[in-house]
Amino acid sequence: MSMKVADEPVLSAVNFSAIRQRCPGCQRALPIRPPQNDETFAEWQCEACHTRLAGIFVPEIVPTLADRVRLCPQHFDASRAEPIPPELRKLVAKFLAGRESRLATHERRRNPRVPCDLDAVIVGLDDRWTPHGQPMRAVVIDLAEHGLGMMTAQRVDAARLAIQIQCSAGLVQLFGRTAWSNFVSDGFQNTGVEFRHRLGRTTLKVEEQ
Ligand SMILES: [Zn+2]
Repeated sequence: MSMKVADEPVLSAVNFSAIRQRCPGCQRALPIRPPQNDETFAEWQCEACHTRLAGIFVPEIVPTLADRVRLCPQHFDASRAEPIPPELRKLVAKFLAGRESRLATHERRRNPRVPCDLDAVIVGLDDRWTPHGQPMRAVVIDLAEHGLGMMTAQRVDAARLAIQIQCSAGLVQLFGRTAWSNFVSDGFQNTGVEFRHRLGRTTLKVEEQ
């Protein structure tokens, strides 16, 4: 089962073909438009031919096209970000052990949250889904069809996030909205993210373990 991604509201009275951009490499339609004037833009990569282009994500045009692009690696370059502290790793292990013991009784619902332990890099997005600010490291601790839970050592204050998850199938990129955020012990933060768009074609399996 792959994750279901919620659609953004559809814009009416917009000339879609005029603002939609085609990949300069393979001519496929992409959910990207060129930046205008001094607009902040992101660097994108076509999933089919790997051509890079600057642009602004416009999911309202055709939400199903999100799988044709992904953000270029530099947007998730966490080489200068704080590593995950050992104390946070321990907290994740404790959380997962606790979840496992409760799983049998509590998680028999239709959209189970599956405990996991996956390294990720997150970056805040502005209201046009364009990355801003510095990337941060996170550990994804549960996954469901519509969202995920993660732990971070630093405060997460962006309302929208891009998340790149390292999993066995490769790097998975997701755009989501911050649904809730709580401080847990030692100032670490537990944040819930509701998925809005899955970028690229790599499928992230959500399976009960
Ligand atoms: Zn292309």
